[in-house]
Amino acid sequence: MTDSSASTDDLEERGKAIFARMRDHPEPGAVGPSDEPAAAAPATDPTPTEAPIRVLPPLPRIIAVANQKGGVGKTTTAVNLGACLADLGYRTLVVDLDPQGNASTGLGINIRGLQASMYDVILSDVPIEDCIEASSVRNLFVAPASLDLAGAEIELVPAFSRELRLKQALAEVRDDYDYVLIDCPPSLGLLTINGMAAATEVLVPIQCEYYALEGLGQLLRNVTLVQKNLNPTLDVSTIVLVMYDARTKLSDQVATEVREHFPEKVCKIMIPRTIRLSEAPSFGQPIIAFDPTSRGAIAYRELAKEVSGGPA
Ligand code: ATP
Ligand code: MG
Repeated sequence: MTDSSASTDDLEERGKAIFARMRDHPEPGAVGPSDEPAAAAPATDPTPTEAPIRVLPPLPRIIAVANQKGGVGKTTTAVNLGACLADLGYRTLVVDLDPQGNASTGLGINIRGLQASMYDVILSDVPIEDCIEASSVRNLFVAPASLDLAGAEIELVPAFSRELRLKQALAEVRDDYDYVLIDCPPSLGLLTINGMAAATEVLVPIQCEYYALEGLGQLLRNVTLVQKNLNPTLDVSTIVLVMYDARTKLSDQVATEVREHFPEKVCKIMIPRTIRLSEAPSFGQPIIAFDPTSRGAIAYRELAKEVSGGPA
């Protein structure tokens, strides 16, 4: 990947200008969460035929789902893309690298009763296979996290090869999986660096909302740092537009801006903002189990096809 920080700063500036315009001229009737009507055709790039064809990297693919902004859909994307890849027949592992443990609980794991977790893997060299648990979806496995992982950011500071702990742990199992999705925490600290050092690719979810583009330059600069120092072949391969609300001009403007900057990275499918996607985690289920015909389920299935090229 080339150093795109200059153009990303420009993107952030243009993003701020859009938000200022929208603030001064709000759209009538375009507030509040969208409801869940009968499944409609998923929102896609309005000009899909002009989008470049993606060249798919070889398996196994290890994808860090990262964005230091909080609440932008990292975990929702890791869990649901993971479930849909598994449903397509790919053996898939979701690694929960966030002390909040949301990816683990969202896949039905009780994080209070864990024998071993990612904390033990990162800090105590426990083999990752000792903490991996099966989920309720065939082919989908989870390496769970719990709150003690929060201490890892500090405990890792003096540790030997502290940035490469996850990479070393995954080396033992990478051939057992087609896809490994790493759910990173909302920071650019040592856990996220471990995620990026272990990954072959970075997937960035971008919310089609106010201030979505803020911090994107910093994220890409950090990826460049990881490339230079730890992982030269790391690639920001995929940008996914999430929480898309077709009723707002802002959603479309953010999507258009991001596509103009990263035409070859942005997925055609956009994940809609839907209540069902936010309800599923409290039932410990990915959306394809919780509500298989919902718009969110359809969109994440499409995303899995786009990311993988189709069934295994
Ligand atoms: P954090 O930075 O805290 O780890 P995150 O980036 O992992 O957050 P999520 O936890 O996936 O973000 O999502 C934040 C909130 O938004 C959650 O309550 C989630 O259920 C909800 N959410 C995510 N995607 C959607 C969507 N497409 N439609 C509606 N709600 C969504
Ligand atoms: Mg999260």
